[in-house]
Amino acid sequence: MSAANLVEVFSSIQGEGPEVGTRTLFVRFGGCDLRCLWCDSPGTWQPADRVRFESAPGSGQWQEETNPVVPARLLAMAEGLGLEAHRWVSFTGGEPLLQPEAVAAAAEALAGHGPGIFLETHGLHAQALAKIIDRIDFVSMDWKLASDVRRESDPKTGRGDAFHETHQRFLDVARAAHGVSVKLVITPASEDAEIDEAIRRVAETHPTACLVLQPVTPHGPVKARPTPERMQALALRAASALQDVRVIPQTHPWLGVV
Ligand code: SF4
Repeated sequence: MSAANLVEVFSSIQGEGPEVGTRTLFVRFGGCDLRCLWCDSPGTWQPADRVRFESAPGSGQWQEETNPVVPARLLAMAEGLGLEAHRWVSFTGGEPLLQPEAVAAAAEALAGHGPGIFLETHGLHAQALAKIIDRIDFVSMDWKLASDVRRESDPKTGRGDAFHETHQRFLDVARAAHGVSVKLVITPASEDAEIDEAIRRVAETHPTACLVLQPVTPHGPVKARPTPERMQALALRAASALQDVRVIPQTHPWLGVV
């Protein structure tokens, strides 16, 4: 069974997206091949030497050990956090789909204990998703906007490298999951044309998917949020094309939880 490179394992309150507020056990994978300007977890960009795991749910007390983590050890960490009491196990990152075999093995180890398996992904690796989609209950994918996101391989000139085609192929695979949401992080620099193109393609591919419009939490070089008037206008435009549109900001920063 494939071992995983993990950054951390902990129990908390889901802070964003359609399942916001639910008790969730987070398994954070190491490594990411994007560089979102507003990323609040650059510590996940590289695989980690050591994984930290919470000692008790919500305790903020951590232990550490070396990577990689085999599925049986991950299950032991999760059971130590009261696995059954959670609504979801979220595989997050970083980008979990850089390690599809490890995601599959972790899902197999953690499934059947109560919580559903929830995948949080940047939504660009459709082939990796296809390998594991039968083990995932809910796919929460981002739809990256080129105005604010760069590839690791091309951090300076990523602007103009639209992600739409790749996201649309990914969403087509994700449709096989019981639940699917697509998240657009909106900043003052996000352009109407790229947002409209994303909405059009989501409507074309999976019109019943939940679309989450998330006003950015300012971080790093992104210093401001979009105006309330802009969020209202975008929500109205999206609702003209999709059935399930929600405007949900991140809640964990002001709750003060990880
Ligand atoms: S995909 Fe996620 S982890 Fe990677 S840079 Fe963007 S926000 Fe950060």
